[in-house]
Amino acid sequence: MKALCWHGKNDVRYDTVPDPAIEHPRDAIINVSSCAICGSDLHLYDHYMPGMSCGDVLGHEFMGEVMEVGSETKNLKVGDRVVVPFTIFCGECEQCQRGNYSVCERSNRNKSLADKVFGHGGAGLFGYSQLTGGYAGGQAEFVRVPFADTTHIKVPDTLTDEQVLFLGDIFPTGWQAAVQCDIQPTDTVVIWGAGPVGQFCVRSAVLLGAKQVVVIDNVPERLSMAAAGGAIPLNFAHESVLGRLQELTHGKGPEKCIDAVGLEAHATRSLDSVYDRVKQAMWLETDRAHVLREMIYVCRPAGILSIPGVYGGLVDKIPMGALMNKGLTVRTGQTHVNRWTDDLLRRIDEGQIDPSFVITHAVDLAQGPEMYQTFRDKQDGCVKVILKP
Ligand code: NAD
Ligand code: ZN
Ligand code: ZN
Repeated sequence: MKALCWHGKNDVRYDTVPDPAIEHPRDAIINVSSCAICGSDLHLYDHYMPGMSCGDVLGHEFMGEVMEVGSETKNLKVGDRVVVPFTIFCGECEQCQRGNYSVCERSNRNKSLADKVFGHGGAGLFGYSQLTGGYAGGQAEFVRVPFADTTHIKVPDTLTDEQVLFLGDIFPTGWQAAVQCDIQPTDTVVIWGAGPVGQFCVRSAVLLGAKQVVVIDNVPERLSMAAAGGAIPLNFAHESVLGRLQELTHGKGPEKCIDAVGLEAHATRSLDSVYDRVKQAMWLETDRAHVLREMIYVCRPAGILSIPGVYGGLVDKIPMGALMNKGLTVRTGQTHVNRWTDDLLRRIDEGQIDPSFVITHAVDLAQGPEMYQTFRDKQDGCVKVILKP
């Protein structure tokens, strides 16, 4: 089959690789109809994350038709149309029982390696390095889904791929980030980053009834898209973030702050071993707390900081005194995708939101390598790329 494969820093190729096969009775094989490139894939593209090998199939946002099921995958049948959540989860462990799917205790088959590097291992993820299980991703014609009897979202034929694809990652990620803010009708919610995740944070904060939503970025097309979704745009290249936020909140600061930026694309070196990567992260992370610092300084006392943005390694220069004395609450994590599915699918079905608004580029999978660069460099008004195998 054809797939987008990682070959090193800034080197993604459209390769021919072996077709996946059922390896476990709970597996399914999906014939991918649509997939997308996520901001998290850029961390691999820029070689921020350790544990990638040459030829690894990328991609964790995908959907399609069930082609084959293992003998224990009773609730799926050939022909079912599914979106696949980016977090693989067993549905049975203590964390899954509590709905904490992104920290499933069983789906990361390389958990002990991840435990060593991160201090704990989260769930298995598709197309995201040996540290998250080394599972082949979905920027491909076909993909094996482990624990497929739980790791799926059935979607109705009445909705298009473009309307439901993002239920697997960026829509619930923006939603969870906003829900974690406990939004009140009097709240100002500020979102750093108007990338695809930031866009869904904006729409979610509006749907959840915030008084005022502000979005910060320096990419005009992204700010305009967020403004169309109901946010006040703030271009950090042209105006003072602190000054404008003070002005918009009568000098008090916003109650709720969301970091939808995370690791930005500034990696300069590429090292081979997992441990060297973490050391490198320690070295370069000193400059990477910019958004976190800004949020801590600007947030109103007793406010909430919600951090869907992905970080790795150690991050330095966090003003702990301000965080503590202001009594701020910090909430973060990979998204527990399936926790939000029923609610979000209903909202799409009722027309409260059409997630396809975020798509700026729809191309063949073969164009994936150039699209990684377009998306990373925010060229050509790119906000979100979907690919058709
Ligand atoms: P993206 O890279 O397209 O968007 C990031 C945006 O942040 C860009 O538009 C960039 O211009 C902007 N930015 C950079 N520096 C900034 C600053 N100082 N202030 C304000 N804006 C700034 O990525 P995305 O797809 O939107 O993803 C955003 C983050 O969310 C990434 O870190 C990604 O890994 C993470 N993510 C997390 C989860 C999760 O489960 N928690 C899921 C998906 C994505
Ligand atoms: Zn993602
Ligand atoms: Zn589990």
